[in-house]
Amino acid sequence: VKYASPVLKFGKYKSQLISKFVEILQSDSYILGNEVHKFEKSFSELIGSKYGIGLNSCTDALTIGLRAAGIIAGDQVITSALTAPATIISILNSGAIPVIVDINSETKCISPKEIEKYINKETKAIIPVHLHGFPAEMQEIIDLCKENQIKIIEDCAQSIGATYKGKKVGTFGIAGAFSFYPTKNLSALGDAGALITDDYEIYKTAVTLRNYGIDQDWDIKIPGFNSRLDEFHAGFLNIMLADIENLNQRRWHYANQYHKELSEFNEYLPPLQEGSVYHQFSLKVPKREKFIAQAKQLGLELGIHYPFTMKSFTSFQKFCKPIPEAEKLSKKIVSLPIQPEVLDINFPKIVSILKRCLENQ
Ligand SMILES: *Cc1c(COP(=O)(O)O)cnc(C)c1O
Repeated sequence: VKYASPVLKFGKYKSQLISKFVEILQSDSYILGNEVHKFEKSFSELIGSKYGIGLNSCTDALTIGLRAAGIIAGDQVITSALTAPATIISILNSGAIPVIVDINSETKCISPKEIEKYINKETKAIIPVHLHGFPAEMQEIIDLCKENQIKIIEDCAQSIGATYKGKKVGTFGIAGAFSFYPTKNLSALGDAGALITDDYEIYKTAVTLRNYGIDQDWDIKIPGFNSRLDEFHAGFLNIMLADIENLNQRRWHYANQYHKELSEFNEYLPPLQEGSVYHQFSLKVPKREKFIAQAKQLGLELGIHYPFTMKSFTSFQKFCKPIPEAEKLSKKIVSLPIQPEVLDINFPKIVSILKRCLENQ
Protein backbone atom coordinates (compact mmCIF):
# COMPACT_ATOMS: atom_id res chain seq x y z
CA VAL A 1 0.00 0.00 0.00
CA LYS A 2 1.44 3.31 -1.08
CA TYR A 3 1.52 6.22 1.34
CA ALA A 4 0.00 8.59 -1.24
CA SER A 5 -0.94 8.38 -4.89
CA PRO A 6 -2.04 11.54 -6.71
CA VAL A 7 -2.90 9.53 -9.85
CA LEU A 8 -5.77 7.88 -7.94
CA LYS A 9 -7.21 11.30 -7.21
CA PHE A 10 -6.76 12.61 -10.75
CA GLY A 11 -8.25 9.39 -12.12
CA LYS A 12 -11.64 10.35 -10.71
CA TYR A 13 -11.63 13.55 -12.78
CA LYS A 14 -9.99 12.07 -15.87
CA SER A 15 -12.67 12.80 -18.47
CA GLN A 16 -13.24 16.34 -17.15
CA LEU A 17 -9.48 17.01 -17.12
CA ILE A 18 -9.08 15.75 -20.68
CA SER A 19 -11.96 17.87 -22.03
CA LYS A 20 -10.51 20.88 -20.23
CA PHE A 21 -7.11 20.18 -21.77
CA VAL A 22 -8.63 20.12 -25.27
CA GLU A 23 -10.66 23.27 -24.59
CA ILE A 24 -7.59 25.21 -23.43
CA LEU A 25 -5.46 23.80 -26.25
CA GLN A 26 -7.93 25.32 -28.71
CA SER A 27 -8.40 28.58 -26.81
CA ASP A 28 -5.19 30.22 -28.05
CA SER A 29 -4.55 31.54 -24.53
CA TYR A 30 -2.17 29.71 -22.21
CA ILE A 31 -1.06 32.05 -19.46
CA LEU A 32 -3.10 34.40 -17.21
CA GLY A 33 -6.32 33.99 -19.20
CA ASN A 34 -9.96 33.21 -18.41
CA GLU A 35 -9.25 30.07 -16.41
CA VAL A 36 -6.79 31.89 -14.17
CA HIS A 37 -9.22 34.76 -13.58
CA LYS A 38 -12.04 32.35 -12.86
CA PHE A 39 -9.85 30.43 -10.43
CA GLU A 40 -8.68 33.57 -8.65
CA LYS A 41 -12.28 34.62 -8.15
CA SER A 42 -13.65 31.27 -6.96
CA PHE A 43 -10.64 30.51 -4.80
CA SER A 44 -10.68 33.83 -2.95
CA GLU A 45 -14.46 33.51 -2.48
CA LEU A 46 -14.07 30.02 -1.09
CA ILE A 47 -11.55 31.13 1.53
CA GLY A 48 -13.40 34.36 2.25
CA SER A 49 -11.09 37.01 0.97
CA LYS A 50 -11.49 39.89 -1.54
CA TYR A 51 -8.65 39.20 -3.97
CA GLY A 52 -6.87 36.13 -5.26
CA ILE A 53 -3.62 36.10 -7.27
CA GLY A 54 -2.68 32.93 -9.15
CA LEU A 55 1.05 32.20 -8.97
CA ASN A 56 3.65 29.60 -9.77
CA SER A 57 3.99 28.10 -6.29
CA CYS A 58 3.43 28.72 -2.61
CA THR A 59 7.12 29.58 -2.25
CA ASP A 60 6.54 32.46 -4.68
CA ALA A 61 3.24 33.37 -3.01
CA LEU A 62 5.05 33.84 0.31
CA THR A 63 7.92 35.79 -1.28
CA ILE A 64 5.58 38.03 -3.26
CA GLY A 65 3.32 38.41 -0.20
CA LEU A 66 6.28 39.59 1.87
CA ARG A 67 7.50 41.96 -0.83
CA ALA A 68 4.00 43.35 -1.45
CA ALA A 69 3.59 43.89 2.29
CA GLY A 70 6.63 46.18 2.20
CA ILE A 71 9.17 43.80 3.73
CA ILE A 72 12.65 44.86 2.63
CA ALA A 73 16.22 43.61 2.88
CA GLY A 74 17.38 43.38 6.47
CA ASP A 75 13.89 43.08 7.99
CA GLN A 76 13.38 40.10 10.26
CA VAL A 77 10.63 37.56 9.63
CA ILE A 78 9.82 35.03 12.37
CA THR A 79 8.70 31.55 11.41
CA SER A 80 8.52 27.94 12.56
CA ALA A 81 11.33 25.38 12.87
CA LEU A 82 9.06 22.56 11.69
CA THR A 83 7.95 23.30 8.14
CA ALA A 84 8.88 22.73 4.51
CA PRO A 85 12.23 24.40 3.65
CA ALA A 86 10.16 26.44 1.16
CA THR A 87 8.99 28.70 3.99
CA ILE A 88 12.56 29.75 4.78
CA ILE A 89 13.50 30.01 1.10
CA SER A 90 10.60 32.41 0.52
CA ILE A 91 11.88 34.72 3.29
CA LEU A 92 15.42 34.65 1.89
CA ASN A 93 14.10 35.31 -1.64
CA SER A 94 12.33 38.43 -0.35
CA GLY A 95 15.66 39.74 0.98
CA ALA A 96 14.58 39.49 4.62
CA ILE A 97 16.28 37.56 7.43
CA PRO A 98 14.48 34.46 8.76
CA VAL A 99 14.27 34.08 12.53
CA ILE A 100 13.44 30.43 13.10
CA VAL A 101 11.81 29.61 16.42
CA ASP A 102 10.47 26.58 18.26
CA ILE A 103 7.04 24.99 18.09
CA ASN A 104 4.38 24.11 20.62
CA SER A 105 4.56 20.31 20.65
CA GLU A 106 0.77 20.08 21.10
CA THR A 107 -0.15 21.99 17.92
CA LYS A 108 3.14 21.21 16.09
CA CYS A 109 2.88 24.85 14.94
CA ILE A 110 4.93 27.89 15.94
CA SER A 111 4.81 28.69 19.66
CA PRO A 112 3.48 32.18 20.49
CA LYS A 113 5.66 32.18 23.63
CA GLU A 114 8.76 31.61 21.48
CA ILE A 115 7.70 34.33 19.05
CA GLU A 116 7.42 36.76 21.94
CA LYS A 117 11.00 36.00 23.05
CA TYR A 118 12.46 37.02 19.71
CA ILE A 119 10.42 40.06 18.72
CA ASN A 120 12.58 43.17 18.41
CA LYS A 121 12.42 46.41 16.44
CA GLU A 122 13.64 44.73 13.25
CA THR A 123 10.79 42.19 13.37
CA LYS A 124 8.46 43.14 10.53
CA ALA A 125 6.50 39.98 9.79
CA ILE A 126 5.53 36.57 11.10
CA ILE A 127 4.75 33.56 8.95
CA PRO A 128 2.70 31.06 10.93
CA VAL A 129 2.60 27.66 9.22
CA HIS A 130 -0.62 25.69 9.70
CA LEU A 131 1.18 22.34 9.73
CA HIS A 132 -0.55 19.08 8.72
CA GLY A 133 -3.83 20.99 8.19
CA PHE A 134 -4.13 22.11 11.85
CA PRO A 135 -4.40 25.84 12.49
CA ALA A 136 -1.70 27.61 14.53
CA GLU A 137 -2.67 29.54 17.68
CA MET A 138 -3.82 32.62 15.77
CA GLN A 139 -5.40 34.61 18.61
CA GLU A 140 -2.14 34.75 20.57
CA ILE A 141 -0.17 35.51 17.39
CA ILE A 142 -2.57 38.28 16.36
CA ASP A 143 -2.36 39.86 19.82
CA LEU A 144 1.45 39.89 19.68
CA CYS A 145 1.46 41.35 16.18
CA LYS A 146 -1.02 44.11 16.98
CA GLU A 147 0.98 45.15 20.00
CA ASN A 148 4.21 45.31 18.00
CA GLN A 149 2.95 46.43 14.57
CA ILE A 150 4.04 43.24 12.87
CA LYS A 151 2.44 41.87 9.71
CA ILE A 152 1.12 38.32 9.47
CA ILE A 153 1.40 36.31 6.26
CA GLU A 154 0.01 32.81 6.68
CA ASP A 155 1.60 29.72 5.13
CA CYS A 156 -1.54 27.74 4.26
CA ALA A 157 0.17 25.25 1.91
CA GLN A 158 -1.14 22.34 4.01
CA SER A 159 -4.34 23.86 5.27
CA ILE A 160 -6.71 24.86 2.49
CA GLY A 161 -10.18 25.12 4.04
CA ALA A 162 -8.99 24.66 7.64
CA THR A 163 -10.74 26.89 10.16
CA TYR A 164 -9.72 28.55 13.41
CA LYS A 165 -12.63 29.66 15.61
CA GLY A 166 -14.93 29.19 12.62
CA LYS A 167 -12.94 31.38 10.20
CA LYS A 168 -10.82 29.97 7.38
CA VAL A 169 -7.06 30.22 7.69
CA GLY A 170 -5.44 32.59 5.22
CA THR A 171 -7.75 35.42 6.30
CA PHE A 172 -6.16 36.28 9.65
CA GLY A 173 -3.19 38.27 8.43
CA ILE A 174 -2.67 40.70 5.57
CA ALA A 175 -2.22 37.81 3.12
CA GLY A 176 -2.40 34.01 2.92
CA ALA A 177 -0.27 31.77 0.70
CA PHE A 178 -1.41 28.42 -0.75
CA SER A 179 0.23 25.55 -2.66
CA PHE A 180 -1.40 23.31 -5.24
CA TYR A 181 1.55 20.92 -5.54
CA PRO A 182 0.22 17.51 -6.64
CA THR A 183 0.12 15.98 -3.13
CA LYS A 184 -1.59 18.93 -1.40
CA ASN A 185 -5.30 18.74 -0.53
CA LEU A 186 -6.16 20.74 -3.66
CA SER A 187 -3.77 20.00 -6.48
CA ALA A 188 -2.73 20.96 -9.96
CA LEU A 189 -0.90 18.59 -12.31
CA GLY A 190 2.36 20.37 -11.60
CA ASP A 191 3.48 23.45 -9.67
CA ALA A 192 0.93 26.13 -8.82
CA GLY A 193 0.11 28.45 -5.94
CA ALA A 194 -1.95 31.47 -4.93
CA LEU A 195 -1.95 34.46 -2.64
CA ILE A 196 -5.14 35.89 -1.16
CA THR A 197 -5.66 39.26 0.49
CA ASP A 198 -8.30 41.83 1.41
CA ASP A 199 -5.85 44.67 0.81
CA TYR A 200 -6.14 46.34 -2.61
CA GLU A 201 -2.56 47.71 -2.54
CA ILE A 202 -1.11 44.29 -1.78
CA TYR A 203 -3.24 42.81 -4.54
CA LYS A 204 -2.07 45.38 -7.11
CA THR A 205 1.58 45.00 -6.11
CA ALA A 206 1.41 41.19 -6.20
CA VAL A 207 -0.15 41.25 -9.68
CA THR A 208 2.69 43.52 -10.83
CA LEU A 209 5.43 41.47 -9.16
CA ARG A 210 4.31 38.16 -10.68
CA ASN A 211 4.79 39.54 -14.18
CA TYR A 212 8.40 40.85 -14.00
CA GLY A 213 7.24 43.94 -12.11
CA ILE A 214 5.58 45.55 -15.15
CA ASP A 215 3.02 48.04 -13.84
CA GLN A 216 0.02 49.89 -15.32
CA ASP A 217 2.30 52.52 -16.92
CA TRP A 218 4.20 49.69 -18.65
CA ASP A 219 7.11 50.60 -16.43
CA ILE A 220 9.16 48.52 -14.01
CA LYS A 221 9.70 50.53 -10.84
CA ILE A 222 10.34 47.48 -8.69
CA PRO A 223 11.87 44.43 -10.43
CA GLY A 224 9.64 41.40 -9.93
CA PHE A 225 9.51 37.74 -10.89
CA ASN A 226 8.09 35.45 -13.50
CA SER A 227 5.54 33.70 -11.34
CA ARG A 228 2.50 33.54 -13.58
CA LEU A 229 -0.08 30.77 -13.36
CA ASP A 230 -0.74 28.74 -16.53
CA GLU A 231 -4.20 28.26 -18.00
CA PHE A 232 -3.85 24.47 -17.92
CA HIS A 233 -3.17 24.35 -14.20
CA ALA A 234 -5.88 26.92 -13.46
CA GLY A 235 -8.35 24.98 -15.63
CA PHE A 236 -7.57 21.73 -13.80
CA LEU A 237 -7.77 23.52 -10.46
CA ASN A 238 -11.21 24.92 -11.35
CA ILE A 239 -12.46 21.37 -11.81
CA MET A 240 -11.04 20.10 -8.53
CA LEU A 241 -11.91 23.26 -6.57
CA ALA A 242 -15.61 22.51 -7.04
CA ASP A 243 -14.98 19.36 -5.01
CA ILE A 244 -12.60 20.58 -2.30
CA GLU A 245 -15.12 20.68 0.55
CA ASN A 246 -16.00 17.08 -0.24
CA LEU A 247 -12.31 16.09 -0.48
CA ASN A 248 -11.58 17.67 2.91
CA GLN A 249 -14.68 16.09 4.40
CA ARG A 250 -13.49 12.67 3.33
CA ARG A 251 -10.11 13.26 4.99
CA TRP A 252 -12.01 14.15 8.15
CA HIS A 253 -14.06 10.98 7.83
CA TYR A 254 -10.92 8.84 7.71
CA ALA A 255 -9.28 10.71 10.61
CA ASN A 256 -12.42 9.81 12.54
CA GLN A 257 -12.20 6.18 11.39
CA TYR A 258 -8.56 5.93 12.47
CA HIS A 259 -9.61 7.15 15.91
CA LYS A 260 -12.36 4.53 16.07
CA GLU A 261 -10.22 1.65 14.87
CA LEU A 262 -7.09 2.56 16.83
CA SER A 263 -8.79 3.81 20.00
CA GLU A 264 -6.66 1.54 22.21
CA PHE A 265 -3.58 3.43 20.94
CA ASN A 266 -5.05 6.86 21.54
CA GLU A 267 -1.86 8.20 23.17
CA TYR A 268 -0.06 8.01 19.79
CA LEU A 269 -2.79 9.65 17.67
CA PRO A 270 -3.14 13.30 16.64
CA PRO A 271 -6.22 15.03 18.09
CA LEU A 272 -9.59 14.65 16.43
CA GLN A 273 -10.11 18.33 15.79
CA GLU A 274 -12.97 20.08 14.06
CA GLY A 275 -11.42 22.69 11.77
CA SER A 276 -8.40 20.61 10.73
CA VAL A 277 -8.25 19.42 7.12
CA TYR A 278 -5.87 16.53 7.91
CA HIS A 279 -3.29 17.18 5.23
CA GLN A 280 -1.34 14.67 7.30
CA PHE A 281 -2.48 12.22 9.95
CA SER A 282 0.67 12.06 12.00
CA LEU A 283 1.32 9.66 14.89
CA LYS A 284 3.93 10.20 17.60
CA VAL A 285 5.65 6.87 18.20
CA PRO A 286 8.61 6.33 20.53
CA LYS A 287 10.37 3.70 18.38
CA ARG A 288 9.81 5.15 14.95
CA GLU A 289 12.44 3.32 12.91
CA LYS A 290 11.17 -0.02 14.14
CA PHE A 291 7.57 1.00 13.47
CA ILE A 292 8.33 2.04 9.89
CA ALA A 293 10.43 -1.06 9.15
CA GLN A 294 7.74 -3.37 10.48
CA ALA A 295 4.97 -1.64 8.51
CA LYS A 296 7.08 -1.86 5.39
CA GLN A 297 7.64 -5.56 5.91
CA LEU A 298 3.87 -6.04 6.21
CA GLY A 299 3.31 -4.07 3.00
CA LEU A 300 2.52 -0.54 4.20
CA GLU A 301 4.52 2.51 3.15
CA LEU A 302 4.55 5.43 5.61
CA GLY A 303 5.78 9.03 5.40
CA ILE A 304 7.52 11.48 7.76
CA HIS A 305 6.68 15.19 7.74
CA TYR A 306 9.28 16.09 8.52
CA PRO A 307 12.31 13.92 9.42
CA PHE A 308 14.28 17.18 9.65
CA THR A 309 13.94 20.59 11.28
CA MET A 310 15.13 23.81 9.70
CA LYS A 311 18.36 23.39 11.69
CA SER A 312 19.18 20.29 9.60
CA PHE A 313 19.96 22.51 6.61
CA THR A 314 23.48 23.92 6.58
CA SER A 315 22.52 27.28 5.16
CA PHE A 316 19.61 27.77 7.61
CA GLN A 317 21.50 26.97 10.83
CA LYS A 318 22.59 30.52 11.49
CA PHE A 319 18.96 31.66 11.49
CA CYS A 320 17.80 29.11 14.09
CA LYS A 321 17.09 29.91 17.72
CA PRO A 322 17.12 26.97 20.15
CA ILE A 323 14.42 24.57 18.95
CA PRO A 324 14.39 21.55 21.32
CA GLU A 325 10.67 20.78 20.92
CA ALA A 326 10.84 20.70 17.12
CA GLU A 327 13.93 18.49 17.27
CA LYS A 328 12.26 16.06 19.66
CA LEU A 329 9.07 15.89 17.63
CA SER A 330 10.80 15.41 14.29
CA LYS A 331 12.26 12.16 15.66
CA LYS A 332 8.88 10.75 16.71
CA ILE A 333 6.36 11.69 14.05
CA VAL A 334 5.21 9.37 11.30
CA SER A 335 2.46 10.04 8.75
CA LEU A 336 -0.20 7.43 7.95
CA PRO A 337 -1.87 7.36 4.54
CA ILE A 338 -4.75 9.88 4.70
CA GLN A 339 -5.45 10.52 1.02
CA PRO A 340 -9.09 9.36 0.74
CA GLU A 341 -8.60 7.56 -2.59
CA VAL A 342 -5.83 5.42 -1.06
CA LEU A 343 -7.97 4.65 2.00
CA ASP A 344 -11.11 3.89 -0.01
CA ILE A 345 -9.30 0.86 -1.39
CA ASN A 346 -7.05 -0.18 1.52
CA PHE A 347 -8.45 1.00 4.84
CA PRO A 348 -9.08 -2.39 6.55
CA LYS A 349 -5.69 -3.71 5.48
CA ILE A 350 -3.91 -0.55 6.69
CA VAL A 351 -5.65 -0.72 10.07
CA SER A 352 -4.72 -4.34 10.64
CA ILE A 353 -1.06 -3.67 9.79
CA LEU A 354 -1.01 -0.62 12.08
CA LYS A 355 -2.48 -2.55 14.98
CA ARG A 356 0.28 -5.13 14.74
CA CYS A 357 2.99 -2.47 14.58
CA LEU A 358 1.54 -0.38 17.41
CA GLU A 359 1.30 -3.39 19.71
CA ASN A 360 5.09 -3.58 19.43
CA GLN A 361 5.72 0.02 20.46
C1 LIG B 1 4.41 22.48 0.15
C2 LIG B 1 4.71 23.53 1.12
C3 LIG B 1 5.28 24.76 0.73
C4 LIG B 1 5.78 25.02 -0.67
O1 LIG B 1 4.82 24.95 -1.65
P1 LIG B 1 5.31 25.00 -3.19
O2 LIG B 1 4.03 25.17 -3.93
O3 LIG B 1 5.99 23.70 -3.45
O4 LIG B 1 6.22 26.15 -3.34
C5 LIG B 1 5.44 25.75 1.67
N1 LIG B 1 5.11 25.56 2.95
C6 LIG B 1 4.59 24.38 3.38
C7 LIG B 1 4.23 24.25 4.82
C8 LIG B 1 4.39 23.34 2.48
O5 LIG B 1 3.88 22.18 2.92
